[in-house]
Amino acid sequence: MKSLIFSESAEIIKEMLNFLNGKMEADVAFAGETSEAPLFAAKKVFIIDSYPYDPQTVALALEGIVGGYDYFFVGATTVGREVAAMVSQDMNMPMESEIMSFGLENGQAKVSRFYYGGKTVMEKITSARVFTVMAGISDQLVPDKPYEQEVIMVHVQSGGINLISREEKQKGSVDLTKADIIVAVGRGIGKKEGLEVAEQLASALGAELAGSRPVCSDLHWLGEERQVGLSGKRVKPKVYIALGISGQIQHIVGMRDSKTVIAINRDKSAPIFNECDYGLVGDLYAIVPKLVQAIRS
Ligand SMILES: Cc1cc2nc3c(=O)[nH]c(=O)nc-3n(C[C@H](O)[C@H](O)[C@H](O)COP(=O)(O)OP(=O)(O)OC[C@H]3O[C@@H](n4cnc5c(N)ncnc54)[C@H](O)[C@@H]3O)c2cc1C
Repeated sequence: MKSLIFSESAEIIKEMLNFLNGKMEADVAFAGETSEAPLFAAKKVFIIDSYPYDPQTVALALEGIVGGYDYFFVGATTVGREVAAMVSQDMNMPMESEIMSFGLENGQAKVSRFYYGGKTVMEKITSARVFTVMAGISDQLVPDKPYEQEVIMVHVQSGGINLISREEKQKGSVDLTKADIIVAVGRGIGKKEGLEVAEQLASALGAELAGSRPVCSDLHWLGEERQVGLSGKRVKPKVYIALGISGQIQHIVGMRDSKTVIAINRDKSAPIFNECDYGLVGDLYAIVPKLVQAIRS
């Protein structure tokens, strides 16, 4: 069995190489700079020489290559999802989207993915040959030294989309992946002004402030760079304090490697209590100020 991996992101290529490591041989197709190729642990790297944000031209280039492979894995970015769907349609290869695991059982693919909007995980045996893979599902596989590999340039005609200008997204200064202590805030904080309570705890402990997806990406009470979870950062602090976070799996995958987890939630059946070392059932607005007082004294 042989697979081809595609992404326009070098980080996601490295994650997918780790994802498939030990399962099957994988070549890489990358819509990016040739200089990145030696850090991909793959014997063959196709560099798609095209503007990567034009999924149609990228898909057309890949369609000339993908026929030689049993499986085609694509990083589930905005571009990747479109590319995978186009290749699946044009090449008549069935597709399974946003997979979280992949294995082979009796020569068939066995995958798992979220179902019912993330409320449950489904496992299935599938005849699919094209898969989009959730970003952040694996650590990155990076070889110790530059890999010896065959690099093949794939030149593509430009399509209907042209780059006119480019503006970098403003990045925050925080690097949660290096934080020793994290105070993470969930929707249970109830209002933006409530962050003050969490900030006081973070300041008393010398901790970084983080948040769940509702707080960072939906309500924008904290910056997106502070989101922990499947579509946010994966953190490994010594202490992770979850305030008003229910503990859905998409949050847990981002913080489950924390050494000590402390959760405060007023619902004693919240799933976060299955993941924590110390759990306090109660109103965070009643508990946190007392904690701050105790720490300061
Ligand atoms: C593809 C996909 C990717 C996702 N990626 C992420 C991700 O990266 N990160 C992420 O966090 N989520 C992610 N999610 C969303 C995830 O499924 C949950 O919806 C989210 O984690 C819930 O956030 P929350 O715990 O803050 O909110 P809720 O689930 O609403 O929980 C709020 C909690 O606060 C408690 N509470 C309320 N008031 C108080 C109070 N006064 N004191 C104490 N406790 C209180 C409640 O009992 C409740 O348990 C993703 C979902 C999908 C489908």
